[in-house]
Amino acid sequence: IFDVSKPWLNRVIERRKKAYLTAVSDVSFEIEEKTVYSLVGESGSGKSTIGKMLVGLLPPTEGSVEIRGVDLARETDAAKVDAVRADIQMIFQDPFASLNPRWRVRDIIVEPVAARGGETKGLAEKLLEQVGLSARDAGKFPHEFSGGQRQRICIARALASEPKLIVCDEPTSALDVSVQAQVLNLMSDLKDDLGLTYLFISHDLTVVQHISDRVGVLYLGRLVEEASPTELFDDPKHPYTQMLLEAAPKLDAFGRDVPPPKGEIPDPINPPTGCAFHPRCPLATDRCKAERPQMRGLRGAKVACHMAE
Ligand code: SF4
Ligand code: MG
Repeated sequence: IFDVSKPWLNRVIERRKKAYLTAVSDVSFEIEEKTVYSLVGESGSGKSTIGKMLVGLLPPTEGSVEIRGVDLARETDAAKVDAVRADIQMIFQDPFASLNPRWRVRDIIVEPVAARGGETKGLAEKLLEQVGLSARDAGKFPHEFSGGQRQRICIARALASEPKLIVCDEPTSALDVSVQAQVLNLMSDLKDDLGLTYLFISHDLTVVQHISDRVGVLYLGRLVEEASPTELFDDPKHPYTQMLLEAAPKLDAFGRDVPPPKGEIPDPINPPTGCAFHPRCPLATDRCKAERPQMRGLRGAKVACHMAE
């Protein structure tokens, strides 16, 4: 419980808000229909901010969010914006927080459709079976389900409005490892069956490895590398990607977790000059401190690093 009357805490909150709002710049990527694009980065890299902008939970302060040729930030024809928005849904990290505990599962699932005046009869039951639960579960409340089952309910709700693109923000990171694989498999099957497109947000490269067609690596609000998962794992070109891969969860001989990457993530409000990764980079030169590297093509990937060769 925070006491917001404390001035120091207000300063922290203000700082956080500002960091949040300035988290992303010059990020440009394309998601091909019926593929999975994954955005990977540590917390504070701006990946959730991008997801929220796509679904309209957060407007960009500058620039554009363009989907199927419609600039969601600037388009003045509300009908055009609504038509695009109707095709995008989001699944969040925490299935416990994103379901109203006082509502029955049926009402939770059909709510987005009911809100638009659509037909909801039998819809929840059909969707529950589609996500591997039972039609009988429609009358139950969220607390009667496990974490994995709740995430299935969230997926059912996202599917209710027949979206084309689903933004999945760390959809499995709050779940047990064994359950994670089941939920990922379900999402992968649904994608194939329904012709869905995913923007998959994760801090864990190993999670996205098997489901992605394309992976973008974010560092301090900028894309630093983009490649197919095979290219990224076999031939990582950016020193930060290499660091992430080395830090991927490993157990030592005693079964303990190997510690995460060395070095702190800098303050996103005042990112380092030049290449923002230079304070943590083993290859950094004077040029890196002065000049920001641009994204460029290299051996089938794209990378923003002066020394990538
Ligand atoms: Fe490291 Fe320089 Fe490449 Fe940045 S541009 S990742 S500091 S080598
Ligand atoms: Mg996040």
